[in-house]
Amino acid sequence: MSGSKFAYVKSYELPDPLLPGTFLVFRLDGHSFHRFSDEHNFTKPNDVRALELMDRAAEALMKEYPDIVLGFGESDEYSFLLRKSTSLYQRRQSKIVSTLTSYFTSCYVFHWPSYFPDLPLKYPPSFDGRLVVYPGEKEVRDYFSWRQADTHINNLYNTAFWALVNQGGQTTTEAHATLRGTVSKQKHEILFSRFNINYNDVDARFRKGSVVVRVEIPEEPEPEPEEPAPAPASSETVDEEEKVVARTEEGEKERKQEKKDEKKKKKKKKKKKSAPKTTLQILHCDIISDGFWNEHTGILER
Ligand code: ATP
Ligand code: ATP
Ligand code: MG
Ligand code: MG
Ligand code: MG
Ligand code: MG
Ligand code: MG
Repeated sequence: MSGSKFAYVKSYELPDPLLPGTFLVFRLDGHSFHRFSDEHNFTKPNDVRALELMDRAAEALMKEYPDIVLGFGESDEYSFLLRKSTSLYQRRQSKIVSTLTSYFTSCYVFHWPSYFPDLPLKYPPSFDGRLVVYPGEKEVRDYFSWRQADTHINNLYNTAFWALVNQGGQTTTEAHATLRGTVSKQKHEILFSRFNINYNDVDARFRKGSVVVRVEIPEEPEPEPEEPAPAPASSETVDEEEKVVARTEEGEKERKQEKKDEKKKKKKKKKKKSAPKTTLQILHCDIISDGFWNEHTGILER
């Protein structure tokens, strides 16, 4: 295909492949959701409907892209880990970032009415997206620890802040001033002594964020195909000569080989067929310590 005299401009498009064999972390974040959450009357500090909608869009994205092995969400952001051997879109950076951001965004809008049935969207929300390449497991784990630590810091602050405003009668300016310079222990103390809130009793969804993993569905064991019973020595129509051939050593060998081949084929078929079926699960658990990673070893493999 020679194309028009204008086609040379295509060559200005530069390839943007990501380094092979590296972990790809894709993160998106709601654009100006401070305003978006105000305009759509999100409950402060945590609107459950909005968080569940984020989770729903994340699940949809992970269903569409099987190479995403882990998702982590908080507030208006979600991070996704693509397995290191992924060849999604030939690892073209802008292609991956733009399609994933776009798909997530349309799922968010598509499912909005299920979570906000009485509140139509006032304007179309958008998300920014970026992709970071990480060389090893340590950096990937530290990345997700970083995000979950952020969830904790933000949520503790916001829980204390909104308690001061909603229950303590402070203005937002006063509440910010009260919390300025406080360390985490002091925020716990304010929550407990003034508002009788034990921070550890706050919903884990808010404290830990959402962790989306693929888990195997235990498959019902297929009944072992029964070994065909040895053919009864039928005297009916079998040619005597054929019987003789079958009994010779050569015939025996051949039949054994055939049987072996048949078994191999079946095994191969079974192996192919039984790529484990998985389903998505949303957890609100700690992903900073080793426990989670020991339980989900598959995430960092491949
Ligand atoms: P940017 O475009 O730079 O991301 P932003 O306004 O979205 O700007 P963020 O730092 O992403 O700023 O913060 C998102 C804000 O959206 C939060 O501070 C919070 O006010 C609001 N928000 C997001 N999700 C929720 C939720 N589930 N419940 C209540 N508020 C939320
Ligand atoms: P990629 O995912 O890499 O973008 P693609 O198949 O979408 O691959 P494009 O170069 O984007 O490739 O081309 C989009 C194709 O979609 C066009 O070649 C055309 O066949 C079809 N298409 C897009 N818009 C229209 C339209 N309005 N009417 C008819 N066909 C369209
Ligand atoms: Mg931001
Ligand atoms: Mg944002
Ligand atoms: Mg954000
Ligand atoms: Mg296209
Ligand atoms: Mg096109």
